[in-house]
Amino acid sequence: MNKIQVKTPIVEIDGDEMTRVMWQMVKDKLLLPYLDMKREYFDLQLKKRDETDDKITLQAAEAIKQYGVGVKCATITPNKDRVKEYGLKQEWSSPNGTIRAALDGTVCRAPILVKNVLPAVRSWKKPIHIGRHAYGDVYKNCEYRVPEAGKAELVFTSSAGKELWRGTIQDFNGPGIIQGIHNTDKSIASFAKACFTYAYDQKIHLWFGAKDTISKTYDSQFKKIFEQEYEANWRAKFKEAGLEYFFTLIDDAVARIMKTDGGLLWACKNYDGDVMSDMLGSAYGSLAMMTSVLVSPQGYYEFEASHGTVQKHYYKHLKGEKTSSNSVALIFAWTGCLIKRGELDNTPEVVEFARKLEQATLETVESGIMTGDLMLVATPSPKNRQVYTEEFINEIAKRLQQKLE
Ligand code: NAP
Ligand code: MG
Repeated sequence: MNKIQVKTPIVEIDGDEMTRVMWQMVKDKLLLPYLDMKREYFDLQLKKRDETDDKITLQAAEAIKQYGVGVKCATITPNKDRVKEYGLKQEWSSPNGTIRAALDGTVCRAPILVKNVLPAVRSWKKPIHIGRHAYGDVYKNCEYRVPEAGKAELVFTSSAGKELWRGTIQDFNGPGIIQGIHNTDKSIASFAKACFTYAYDQKIHLWFGAKDTISKTYDSQFKKIFEQEYEANWRAKFKEAGLEYFFTLIDDAVARIMKTDGGLLWACKNYDGDVMSDMLGSAYGSLAMMTSVLVSPQGYYEFEASHGTVQKHYYKHLKGEKTSSNSVALIFAWTGCLIKRGELDNTPEVVEFARKLEQATLETVESGIMTGDLMLVATPSPKNRQVYTEEFINEIAKRLQQKLE
């Protein structure tokens, strides 16, 4: 069989642990036998980040800017345990955080729906997409462990060297903690632009929640910028398409989400998006049934899985035990990337290949062949059969082969 040509190189960002193991299997069994695909390869496994003083992460982000489309495996964000485990020079920052900051992008996530896994929330009929602001707030914080009694202040000095503002955070009587966070009008505006664009493309409503009643300057600024973007560029378009932009308090948004039938983009501030996307992922079935894409305002895309490196399964794997880890989100990261690449390159055969791979994946699960995480949540059926990590990918490969013949 002639291989399908992928015109422009794809930025491939490899990662850690069990997802790294699955990543290789997906390439070997589902992609490389069929695609002639050049890759700009960046190995972001923790050891390599440590060896390069994390420069490789920035290089990967630069490559996405150069080529436009990338795909990323899950990576370890080191904590104290990991520093010990891998003998690291330091506790490097989250690679996702670094890449998101470099691209000033917004992460949009959506569940991958299959007929035999019903969402935990009965009213959800259509996907609820989450748009996570991928810049700033607690992910780019400045923190200090207050050792003793004293005064903590917030000071702003202009570039011209003039102190414009000073406020007391707290007069401490004893030890405590403080944290400074920030965001920029530019990044919030990009976030708003990305959310309106995505919702309009997908023809879904847009909701945005923040805590502007408590945070009268910080969160209020988010609300204001969203309103400005809506009024300036979207009100007429949304009306014509029958779409709604709806702002409400974050806690009210959470309450309403539990009662909606879906079909909307929920724009979330950085932390809300981190937490809520995991809740949604598991309520729709499994963290491994969720797509995730970072969209920059310049139109660069990075596709990834929304789950982590599945550490516990990896330790079993290292002991030689078989695991039943789900590769669906990793496969959809690749197909999302190939579809976008094919659209940009104007190579419909690449898009068609990716769609067939998606169908082969969904049909495998719908035929009852699934990994352990899905067995727990799938509609019971005598056809259901739990398979190991590699067997699952082999089953998809079989169906893909049939579709391509
Ligand atoms: P995780 O890797 O998402 O796994 C948490 C649990 O969810 C697993 O133990 C497993 O449950 C289940 N799970 C997640 N993905 C699965 C899959 N594909 N197939 C089957 N089950 C799956 O989160 P974590 O254990 O908290 O984090 C591990 C590492 O990942 C950390 O070092 C963290 O820094 C990193 N992380 C990376 C990213 C990223 O790069 N995008 C995101 C989050 C976390 P059972 O054990 O019950 O089977
Ligand atoms: Mg999270």
